Amino acid sequence: MKIRLEDISEEPTHKTFAATSKAVNERLAEGRHEAEEFRLTNPLAVDVTYYRAGDDLYFHGSLVTTISASCARCLEKYALPLETPFEFVLVPEGPQEPDQELQDDDLALSFFSGKEVDIEPLCSEQAILALPTRALCREDCQGICAVCGGDRNNDACSCDDTAPDPRWATLREWKPPPAS
Ligand SMILES: [Zn+2]
Ligand SMILES: [Zn+2]
Repeated sequence: MKIRLEDISEEPTHKTFAATSKAVNERLAEGRHEAEEFRLTNPLAVDVTYYRAGDDLYFHGSLVTTISASCARCLEKYALPLETPFEFVLVPEGPQEPDQELQDDDLALSFFSGKEVDIEPLCSEQAILALPTRALCREDCQGICAVCGGDRNNDACSCDDTAPDPRWATLREWKPPPAS
């Protein structure tokens, strides 16, 4: 969503909009995540309040969406509800460094130039930052059995996955020749 600078005043303005999933998915595809681990299938619902303090623009609000995730252990797809607060500051692009005070604050700091700001890419980035490092359908997901390939959440198979590599079987069966 683009906001004209002249529409950002010292009085906080509150807006809601839906960001398309495209920007988030493009970033996911090029980012640290496996391409298929997380996909955004719904728009990103953005609830934002913004205001200016001098030349600096402050944004805060919340992001709500549902992510389609693939469990890293059992590979099942599951819906991951995402609801996260966000906060960022835009400072004018220019030769002078932004206030030390602003840099020290733990805020996401970005630059803007021109007559309007597009906050959609920043919201996408905040949504991606809020994703878990690993997609797990549940904390104790048992994953897939390395021996029979079954999903251990549905069917507790009795495979012994501590079984040694079959290639060593011949060696194990080897017995020293009887001493004469
Ligand atoms: Zn799982
Ligand atoms: Zn098994």
